[in-house]
Amino acid sequence: MIRVVNVKGMNKPADRAGVVYCGRPFAGWKGHALGNPFRPKPGDPIGTCLERYRKWLLARPTLDADLAALWEETGHGTKPLGCWCVTATAGDGAEVVCHAQVLAEMLRERFAAVTPSARASAAGSPPAEPGGGTPHADGASG
Ligand SMILES: [Zn+2]
Repeated sequence: MIRVVNVKGMNKPADRAGVVYCGRPFAGWKGHALGNPFRPKPGDPIGTCLERYRKWLLARPTLDADLAALWEETGHGTKPLGCWCVTATAGDGAEVVCHAQVLAEMLRERFAAVTPSARASAAGSPPAEPGGGTPHADGASG
């Protein structure tokens, strides 16, 4: 089960230690090599930025090694990926709005078997907060 957590409000080192942040450098978080280099532009259809990111990721000659390293960073899926957009679990059927979800899906496809329990726990998890603002607030202006 590969989770993505929204790091908003995570200011304590202890909180942060449990998360593999994969966004841009911001608010004291170190930027990740697989952070999204693309920013949403006004007027872009929703998802444009994510499509660019997906292509960028798949074109990386080092993708296999990058994903393997990320999988290690997460302690084989025990630590969630952190970003500023969503709280979600890979494979939970939630709309993909965040590059961290793209990464989570790729980790799941490569390293984690799809288990029925992932669905069950996703159903029991609290609903995502209704987000104000932009659909993809990645980067938080930083
Ligand atoms: Zn994000």
